[in-house]
Amino acid sequence: MKIAVLPGDGIGPEIIHEAIKVLSALGESFEMEIAQVGGAGYAAHGHPLPEGTLKLAKEADAVLFGAVGDYQYDKLERALRPEQAILGLRKELGLFANLRPAILYPELAGASTLKPEVVSGLDILIIRELTGDIYFGKPRGVRECPDGPFAGQREGFDTMRYAEGEIRRIAHVAFQAARKRDRRVTSVDKANVLETFQFWRDIVTEVHREYADVELEHMYVDNAAMQLVRAPKKFDVIVTGNMFGDILSDAAAMLTGSIGMLPSASLDANSKGLYEPSHGSAPDIAGKGVANPLATILSAAMMLRFSFGRMDAADRIENAVKRVLAQGLRTPDIHEPGTTRVGTKEMGDAVVAALA
Ligand code: NAD
Repeated sequence: MKIAVLPGDGIGPEIIHEAIKVLSALGESFEMEIAQVGGAGYAAHGHPLPEGTLKLAKEADAVLFGAVGDYQYDKLERALRPEQAILGLRKELGLFANLRPAILYPELAGASTLKPEVVSGLDILIIRELTGDIYFGKPRGVRECPDGPFAGQREGFDTMRYAEGEIRRIAHVAFQAARKRDRRVTSVDKANVLETFQFWRDIVTEVHREYADVELEHMYVDNAAMQLVRAPKKFDVIVTGNMFGDILSDAAAMLTGSIGMLPSASLDANSKGLYEPSHGSAPDIAGKGVANPLATILSAAMMLRFSFGRMDAADRIENAVKRVLAQGLRTPDIHEPGTTRVGTKEMGDAVVAALA
C-alpha cells in the first residue's frame, strides 16, 4: 500500500500531519512518501506540479493530498499558480469521478447554519465529474469580441463541452453508488439553457436503462441549489458536471457544520484515487494550529475503503471520529457553547486515542 503524500500549502501540512498520525496508529504497513506540490512545489522546483511529484503520484497506489494555494502566488501566470497542481493531477491520473459524501454527525446538528430538523440525519453523496466541462474546454482566453453590441472590445471566453463517453462513465459511477445506498439518483443539469447539458440529460437517461432498480430524476442546477438548503435530506446521490458540482458541493459542506468536515475521493476507472479534504488551503488560519483536520482524516478513511478495500480499517477511523465528537471535542469551526475547544494537534491526538 504505497501512498504519495502531498501536503501542499497553507493548512495543508498541518492537517496532513494529523492524517499521517492516524494512519500510522492503525498498525498497518503503509509505505508513505512525501513530496511538494502547489506553492511549495513552485518555491522548491519552479513548478506547482514538479516532475518528481507527478512521477511519485503515478507510481503510488493512492495519493493523500492536503490543499494548495496561497495569496503570495496569485500574481503568477495561470500555468504556474498552485491550483494548477490539482487540476494537473486530476488530468494526468485520469481522476474523473469526485465523490463527496455529506454526512451530518448528530453531535454537529447545532453547528450547521441550517435548522437542526432540516439537516439532522443528513447522508447524501455528491458525485462531480472532474476532468471535463468548462474548466478544461478549449478554446478559452481573452480576445477581441467579434460581434454583438460590444464588438471590438476585449472579451473573456471559455468553452463548455462534454463527450458522450465522459457522461456515460460518470453516470455509471452514480448508478452503481446508488445501488449501495437508497437507490436514488438526481442528475443536475441546465438542460433548459445549455446544449451541453441537454446532451448530458439525454445520455444519463440512456445509461439509466441499465439500472432499472435505481430511481432517476433530473433537476436544473438553480433548483438543486435551492433544494439543497430547503430540504437536503430529499437527495440520495447527486450526479453533476464539473462546475455545477464544484459549487453545489461547497454548499453541501455547510449542511454538515463546516467545510472542515467534508472528505472527498477522486477516482480513476480502476479505483486508484486521490483523497483530499473538500476545502482549500485556508491561508487565513494557516500556522495558527486551529484548522479542523477531520476532513483530511476522513479522506484517509475513504482511501482505505476505495483504493485498498480495507473496509475494517476505514470503519475504525470513522468510528474514532464519531467517538471524539461524542466526547465533545471541537475545533473552532464547529465549536458551540458547552463543547471543548481544541486545536488541530489535539483533535488528531484524540482520534488516535479513540482508535484504541
Ligand atoms: P478555503 O476552503 O481555503 O477557505 C474558506 C473558509 O473556510 C476560510 O474561512 C477558511 O478558514 C475556512 N476553512 C477551510 N478549511 C478549514 C478547516 N479545515 N478548518 C477550519 N476552517 C477551514 O477556500 P478559499 O479561502 O476560497 O481559498 C483559499 C485558497 O485555497 C485559494 O488559494 C484557493 O485557490 C485554494 N483552494 C484549493 C483547493 C484545493 O487544494 N483542492 C480547493 C479550494 C480552494
